[in-house]
Amino acid sequence: MTALLIRNVAIYGTRGTDERTDVRIAGGRVSELGTNLAAAGDDVINGRGGTLLPGLCDHHLHLHAMAAAASSVSCGPPNVRTAVELAQALGAAGGRQQGWIRGTGYFESVAGDLDAVALDRLHDAGPVRIQHRSGALWMLNTAAVAAVGLDAGEHPGIERDASGRATGRLWRADEWLRSRLPAADPPSLAGVGEALSRFGITSVTDATPELSASSAAVIAADMAAGRLPQRVQLLGSPVAASTSGAGAFPPRRTPTPGPYKIVIADSQLPALDDLAALIARAHAADRPVAVHCVSRVALLLLLAALDASGVMPGDRLEHAAVVPAETIVSLRRRGLRVVTQPGFIAQRGDDYRRLMEPEDLPDLYRFRTLLAGGVRVGLSSDAPYGPLDPWAVMQASVDRLPLGGGRPLGPHERVTASEALTGYLSGPADPGGAPRQIRVGSAADLVLLHCSEQELLAGPDAAMVRMTIIAGEPVFGQ
Ligand SMILES: [Zn+2]
Repeated sequence: MTALLIRNVAIYGTRGTDERTDVRIAGGRVSELGTNLAAAGDDVINGRGGTLLPGLCDHHLHLHAMAAAASSVSCGPPNVRTAVELAQALGAAGGRQQGWIRGTGYFESVAGDLDAVALDRLHDAGPVRIQHRSGALWMLNTAAVAAVGLDAGEHPGIERDASGRATGRLWRADEWLRSRLPAADPPSLAGVGEALSRFGITSVTDATPELSASSAAVIAADMAAGRLPQRVQLLGSPVAASTSGAGAFPPRRTPTPGPYKIVIADSQLPALDDLAALIARAHAADRPVAVHCVSRVALLLLLAALDASGVMPGDRLEHAAVVPAETIVSLRRRGLRVVTQPGFIAQRGDDYRRLMEPEDLPDLYRFRTLLAGGVRVGLSSDAPYGPLDPWAVMQASVDRLPLGGGRPLGPHERVTASEALTGYLSGPADPGGAPRQIRVGSAADLVLLHCSEQELLAGPDAAMVRMTIIAGEPVFGQ
């Protein structure tokens, strides 16, 4: 591998010194820092005084759902806002392709609660399945219900009416549904890898629960082949999987199991004892837990379960969308981290304001008060359910402005751009921990920006990314 020399950059965090540095990269690592380093046959990049950052880590997203969303019909705002528009979008997709139509991003503001009967009214020419934008619910029309044998299915997520017939609504049953669909190769992650690289993301945590062996194998194959150049940590690996190898820079070409994902589904809350037992089982296998926790009741249930199971360093809450003020001290005392998504404030802020209980609004997607309370906060997109762009997520953390306009939502939870950036600079095993540093010996996962640190912090923007490097290899820009 040829060595790379990046000249004339300002390393992030040295603001004020106005110092320009050259950075030599060899063997996938930073091998030398200094001024006026000799080129010595290296490929040379003129940094033109731009800022050099450690690569960003998105601490929570869903790789295969991202790839699938790219080839699906968008069924929610802003692309589709009414029942008529939804019927048109499904009709257009039905004209383009044979067989199943897959929709994503549905929200009730479009056409209310959808079951098979309601969906038939929008599209009954062939099987349709539409995913709710939360990712927790699939809605099937009658042709789709028949095709997958939903009535005779035996999954607790199959919603049934008073007479016991399946309604067409299916909660948290992705693997079950996939097993009933015509066999299809999982979509390639090449497009996802490119999008991540373009945003300066060098490391991701896939938060899909109970990832099947075949899904994990496909991720591993796409990494090995270089289609997905990012480092990947998996929360959905089987509970007994070993987490050795996790750290600030997990291996490059093979996924590493991370904490163990547990979903507290508000549609079907687990019994306290069962939840505590599951957490204890993960801990016994030396896995911290990453618990999906969206509502007030889910959080209180989790805290009670942790009282029974005990906690382990690395335990984390995914989303923590509603955190009552009086529980912040409980999070800190237990050493729990929060992996949150301020991008939802921008994307869905208007809906939150309209639809949420007013008393929950001050507790929504907390950030500033968590930091002030001593809770580590890692940032993430939850893509494809939330917006992927990390720079937009940082900006949403800073201004908390819904895209539809209006006042900031939870202005007391705004943070500085540098605090938001720290949420992406912490390593995959340490969300919300200290930002990784560019030092001699550290892995060369780097983002070169067009701009100064001052400009970055004045208004983070994806257009600032000039080049992304993973393990010394440029994966975006030049
Ligand atoms: Zn998620």
